[in-house]
Amino acid sequence: MQYSEIMVRYGELSTKGKNRKDFIRVLGRNVRRSLHEFEDLEIHAQHDRLHVELNGTDSTPVIERLKGVFGIENFSPVVKLEKDFDAVKDMALKMIRAQFEPGMTFKINTKRQDHRFEFDTNEINDKLGGHILTNIPGIQVKMKHPDITLRVEVRLNGIFLSSETIPGAGGLPVGTGGKAAMMISGGIDSPVAAYLGMKRGVKLDMVHFFSPPYTSEQALAKTKDLTSKVAGFAGSIQFIQVPFTKVQEEIKEKVPEGYLMTIQRRMMLRITAAIAASRGDKGVFTGESLGQVASQTLESMMAINDVTTMPVLRPLVSMDKTEIIKIAEQIDTYELSILPFEDCCTIFTPPAPKTRPDLEKTRNFEKLIDVDTLMAEAINGITVTEIKPGENYMNQQEDVFAELL
Ligand code: ATP
Ligand code: MG
Repeated sequence: MQYSEIMVRYGELSTKGKNRKDFIRVLGRNVRRSLHEFEDLEIHAQHDRLHVELNGTDSTPVIERLKGVFGIENFSPVVKLEKDFDAVKDMALKMIRAQFEPGMTFKINTKRQDHRFEFDTNEINDKLGGHILTNIPGIQVKMKHPDITLRVEVRLNGIFLSSETIPGAGGLPVGTGGKAAMMISGGIDSPVAAYLGMKRGVKLDMVHFFSPPYTSEQALAKTKDLTSKVAGFAGSIQFIQVPFTKVQEEIKEKVPEGYLMTIQRRMMLRITAAIAASRGDKGVFTGESLGQVASQTLESMMAINDVTTMPVLRPLVSMDKTEIIKIAEQIDTYELSILPFEDCCTIFTPPAPKTRPDLEKTRNFEKLIDVDTLMAEAINGITVTEIKPGENYMNQQEDVFAELL
């Protein structure tokens, strides 16, 4: 079917005034960004709906992209016709035939803006309904919850037909909720937490700690690939890699084993909060959930959270692992996440970290390391990369290896 446009209905537009205007403006910008390579499209973000005029572009890839843009409730591919009722009848039949399977029911739902059009709403419903009933044997009309609803809108500039409503990603347009730093590892959880943060409209800077030579280039590339996957929901993402080897070595040398993990995590959070503040970010997201591992008890969170007053947001806090994995599969990060590359934390995690660290002891043991100097060095060593959807850092690594062979 060659559609003329895609009509997009807004999500949670409960707010009014300036917020509503921001929502529409940012959503318009995000839709334009996510469809940037389709040159013939014209995108109009209006107060009640957003219209993507296709101008001959194939609707299939455009629809796939729109499914990933937060702030969209649902959308419908639409055919625009001149005000010629015979053409409307033909197209209505064609559209319903394309979806019809034996036993299905339908209804016609007409809205008329152009009151000078030759037929009124009821007449249009009757005439089109009759035309469908005579031409598709076995089809029946059903007013409540039909299988197919054909929407007909008689506007001043033409007649618009649609028969499909495709669910959008929901949520709020990325950027309407401000900006925060996301602590991303190569694991399953943090990419899912990033997705959920973005779904509430927050733009994220990714912060990743790596520890060469204990962690490989491949492990770093994997985290960049995960970032590229979730960048599909955001347009592009700044990826900030922080060298963490020195910090970890000094902690390992000086801090008692039971507190290694807690103090490493404090340093990670402290550094992330400092990077976040320097970029104007207003919070830190993590992929922690309660009770999963030693660092994820309330006592642990209290001992780690102690280093910052910035809000630390944990979208996965009460989710089960199976629920998290389900989302990871939906957003296509799961397969990447389970690739077995060493993580900077697992390498330096003692066999029996304290699951209930004591806050006072934690603070005292931390005095054994030079927090300020280590922090300044790590922040000095950061590298920032802009990561876009569809990029592949791990394969680049393979190319390098292939050339060496
Ligand atoms: P994930 O699956 O996200 O790795 P996890 O269940 O393995 O989480 P932890 O390894 O304890 O749990 O990590 C908890 C959180 O700490 C992560 O979700 C992430 O937000 C942060 N984190 C862990 N390692 C790193 C890292 N190398 N760089 C940045 N953040 C990290
Ligand atoms: Mg992990």
